[in-house]
Amino acid sequence: MRGKKVYIVIFIISIIGISIVQYQYLRIGLNLAKVQFNQKIGLAVNEIKEGLRSENELTFLVGKAITKDDKYFKLSIDSVQDAARYFMNDFLIDKLLQQGIKTDFTYTLNTRDSTEYLTSPTTYNKDEILLKYPVPLDGYLLGLTNENLILELQFKNLNKYFLFQLNGLTIPGLLFIVAIVFVIIWVFRSFYWQNKIITITNEFINNLTHELKTPVFSIGIASKILLEKSTHENKELVNLIRVQVDKLKNQIEKVLELASLEDKKAFIDKKVTDFKPIISNLGLDFEKLAALEDIDFSIELKKDKYILNCDSYLLESAINCLLENAKKYTKENIKIILLANKDKNNLFISVKDNGIGISDENKKKIFDKYYRVSIGDVHDVKGYGLGLNYVKRIVKLHKGKIIVNSTLGKGSEFIIGLPLYKYDK
Ligand code: ADP
Repeated sequence: MRGKKVYIVIFIISIIGISIVQYQYLRIGLNLAKVQFNQKIGLAVNEIKEGLRSENELTFLVGKAITKDDKYFKLSIDSVQDAARYFMNDFLIDKLLQQGIKTDFTYTLNTRDSTEYLTSPTTYNKDEILLKYPVPLDGYLLGLTNENLILELQFKNLNKYFLFQLNGLTIPGLLFIVAIVFVIIWVFRSFYWQNKIITITNEFINNLTHELKTPVFSIGIASKILLEKSTHENKELVNLIRVQVDKLKNQIEKVLELASLEDKKAFIDKKVTDFKPIISNLGLDFEKLAALEDIDFSIELKKDKYILNCDSYLLESAINCLLENAKKYTKENIKIILLANKDKNNLFISVKDNGIGISDENKKKIFDKYYRVSIGDVHDVKGYGLGLNYVKRIVKLHKGKIIVNSTLGKGSEFIIGLPLYKYDK
């Protein structure tokens, strides 16, 4: 739970961080765009000044309009002024475009004391205008009026224009952030959803096994009483019930233990033990069972004394589990070998069968929790896919290793390697 909070906090901080960095980039971008704009306007102003310096078609027409001379064109002075207004507008658009400036603007042509001679076809309200670029005129028009003429270029708030120019960067940036947020939220959700399912499954298994324990315990006692009273004929049958109930009990214990191992609350009671007599007894027990079920079972325990620092009960149930599997996954003429041997440092315990075998692909997966090899979606052997996972956990708790050698159709061999206890340590 704490881990979850930490991840969420890191995620939120990162997203805020990225957003701030993006915002700063945007500000820098805007400032650069403004600087660039000013440079371009500077160039355009020079060009405009140059274009209006000498007498040409435009300055001649503008000259007539500002001196209110209607004789030359034989038109009303209003028409002359209108024509000049548009002609000037086109000229300015052209000069701005030459510098790559493509935004709305207005202009006025006035004297220094603000007498207006000419305005652009459309005009802004005074308070809308945020940027002004005065172009002092000289040459032909100055000579006509004998006054200091100023052409003023006016722009509204240009941030929108700059942002539009930066859109190629800001919009993909924003989209990528949104995409990252979506994907991460999705990953978080599925991760915690899966965790929830695992918890629910564990709880379910816990409850189920606890529920099973009581009836199995009762059957165990009942069969024990029955065994005492049984006659010679049915003794064997009652014995079978007892043996099977014991097996069932073991399975239930195993599942419960697995669940507690999961909770990391497992209590491992390690002691320095000679494991040889334990494994030997275990083998003898299995031999009895095997005889009942017509299984060819052999046990070979090489060398002397297997001193381990171990929880012998856990190790025993791990080996039992391998023996059970060997039996379960062999169809006929079952032949199982339990073998133990040691070298200087390790004890090796192997359980070998002549069963159905495991494909290379499945060898990696069979130790996963709930994993079962399925043949066309059909499991003809009952199980929960928990056994090998349990075995592996126990082996790990003893700092050991488990490997599997297997050929499909021929048989499998599971080998557990456990470090021997060193006296001189
Ligand atoms: P379960 O036996 O309950 O399915 P396990 O974890 O013990 O669960 O085994 C996982 C899978 O590994 C089994 O479903 C089976 O397919 C395969 N397996 C285990 N032991 C053997 C074996 N001795 N021979 C062949 N396949 C095996």
